[in-house]
Amino acid sequence: MNNYGLDIWGDDNFIIQDGVVKLNISPYPAVVDIVKELRAEGNKCPLLLRFPHITQKQISKLYTTFNDTIKEYDYKASFKALFPLKVNQNPNFLLPLLKNSEELNYGLEAGSKAELILAMAYNNKNAPITVNGFKDKEIITLGFIAKQQGHNITLTIEGINELKTIIEVYNELNLPCPNIGLRVRLHSSGDGIWAKSGGINSKFGLSATEILDAFELVKEYNMLESLTMIHFHIGSSMSNISPLKKALKESGHIYAQLKQLGANNLKAINIGGGLAIEYSQFQSKKQYSLAEFCSDVVFTLKDIAQKNDVEEPDIYTESGRFIAAPNTILITPVLELFSSDYDENSLRPKEVNPEIIKELYSLYNEIKVKTAREYMHDSLDHLESILTLFDLGYVDLQDRSNAEVLTHLIIKKAIQLLEFKDYTELKNIEQKIQEKYLLNFSIFQSLPDFWGIGQNFPVMPLTKLNTIPTRSSTLWDITCDSDGEIPFNPKEPLYLHDVDLEKEEYFLGFFLVGAYQDILGMKHNLFTSPTEVNIDFEKDKYKLSSLIKSQKTLDIFEDLDYDIEDLQNRLFSKIQDENLKDILNNYLNDNGYLKTTEIK
Ligand SMILES: *Cc1c(COP(=O)(O)O)cnc(C)c1O
Repeated sequence: MNNYGLDIWGDDNFIIQDGVVKLNISPYPAVVDIVKELRAEGNKCPLLLRFPHITQKQISKLYTTFNDTIKEYDYKASFKALFPLKVNQNPNFLLPLLKNSEELNYGLEAGSKAELILAMAYNNKNAPITVNGFKDKEIITLGFIAKQQGHNITLTIEGINELKTIIEVYNELNLPCPNIGLRVRLHSSGDGIWAKSGGINSKFGLSATEILDAFELVKEYNMLESLTMIHFHIGSSMSNISPLKKALKESGHIYAQLKQLGANNLKAINIGGGLAIEYSQFQSKKQYSLAEFCSDVVFTLKDIAQKNDVEEPDIYTESGRFIAAPNTILITPVLELFSSDYDENSLRPKEVNPEIIKELYSLYNEIKVKTAREYMHDSLDHLESILTLFDLGYVDLQDRSNAEVLTHLIIKKAIQLLEFKDYTELKNIEQKIQEKYLLNFSIFQSLPDFWGIGQNFPVMPLTKLNTIPTRSSTLWDITCDSDGEIPFNPKEPLYLHDVDLEKEEYFLGFFLVGAYQDILGMKHNLFTSPTEVNIDFEKDKYKLSSLIKSQKTLDIFEDLDYDIEDLQNRLFSKIQDENLKDILNNYLNDNGYLKTTEIK
């Protein structure tokens, strides 16, 4: 049986029962049933299902583990957390997160003007806001407005000029100054594919000289009270914890020395994000647990504070991926299997077939358990030969088609006969007999990190999990771009089921897509973001809420700044027939994904 690595990446959020994947929370609905419910209400695939209870679980895990560690080490300061908005700004994701975390005082991290405005509008009362990233006078002014509104806000400076602008605005507005944080440029760098945020050449942060300059400037302007935080962020998805340890030591010492220099109100270290989640379906790539992560942070900071005889700092985190990724599943129906359409009816035998075709016929008719392996290999060799003969002009298109069909039939029969118990044999031949699954979605829109940086997301069928999948699979999306493919990878093979799509539907779920994918997703080929819905669980029941329909085709043109009226005039003025007008109008008011014929 194949559980698609659920025990590695699933974190007990899902279970497999009766051959389907279900939510591991009462009333344990099957994901496929939620999909069917949505489709019955007229929502077309692809779909994004979001689960606020899973986000809640991640937040609570983060707080509990840190707070337990703080108790264990008798650490004298507190733990605070912020959600970095760049990871997921969607209201369906963010609003339940804020509502469910009010009691924890969970705050928001903003990296741009627009994100700061979002934080000012929606952040929980009294919860902290930090502002990272490059800043101009406007964003700094916004920071002062936020402070004036009563927000607990810290502007983290990335350069001395930002500090000068803060001083300028402070003198101009004569309003209370937001807290100031210093982002340090670490000489230790991060780890993993996103590790560009740390290191001496990194895009962000202050060098040692700049830190001293900043401290002196703040002192000169009598603003030492406002200097409260040291910040670093070593990059996303650390697979290994040692870069964090180095960064903690480095920033811990900067904190201690600034305190010794007289930064009296400095009281926090913000360790940024980077906490990884397990995306692998094969073997764990994340080499540390949350408990280990927390222990390292608390222990290191305590140790440095003690040795330097300064107060222990409050610990802030800005983990985003860890909080958001598990929340969302992308559902894509399989539209087509590229070779399963072949059956005996597809054959066009001639009165007299070439020898090699005759040979294929006899392999097909005589194949048995004992000969299955050998015949399968023979058929693949014959197919190669036919293709060469075709290029040389010795066989025609009809022969080539017959060879294609017969080879597929032989392979299929062989797979059935062999009833693969393990995949050793399949592995040897799978390169040649991959099945291509066409999925109704766009990789560019829904899994941009796969396209951009080769990030894999766990994928599995929602049904048929009590039968052994036997087809080594390549996944194709419906964009007209050859990058819209998740190719078969023999090292991490994906096996799917042989399904007859005339008789049954077959859905794949891509899991852990709640971090970064929504906002990075692009409208390549004019595919829009899928229809999405939240699934809320309460008192042994679940309900669907906050449905947001996928954009219509007309909306996309509007986004591109076409004059919609002109566009429609051009289309409709050429059609007289009212019926055709209706059809066209319906298409314009629907999304551009392909329509699957529903099977009752
Ligand atoms: C991106 C970012 C984060 C979030 O990182 P994750 O790896 O998603 O936890 C936190 N802080 C800063 C400053 C960032 O730029």
